[in-house]
Amino acid sequence: MEPRNNEARLDPAIISLFPMLRHHKAMKLVEGRRVTECAVCLMDFADNDIVRLLTMCGHVFHPDCINLWLFLNKICPVWHFIFAATAFLYDTHLCSFGPC
Ligand SMILES: [Zn+2]
Ligand SMILES: [Zn+2]
Repeated sequence: MEPRNNEARLDPAIISLFPMLRHHKAMKLVEGRRVTECAVCLMDFADNDIVRLLTMCGHVFHPDCINLWLFLNKICPVWHFIFAATAFLYDTHLCSFGPC
């Protein structure tokens, strides 16, 4: 999928701020929004898979999948949450749950 213009791209530096953690840990953080498959590649997660957590909506994805997706699309693949610098809600307290 080709982006229409450069405005649609999300800065990889911003993407890298989203925490990466094991899937089973991520599921503890997002209780009630359990995500069992990656919405980008549609593969099921294993408990020990490393996932990247989108902190503003609680969805998780394979790091490689979401990195590429966000770089091209700038929206959450599940809810189509639109990322904008001003709407970026990175929650640093998530990291206190353990190694990201
Ligand atoms: Zn994936
Ligand atoms: Zn989402």
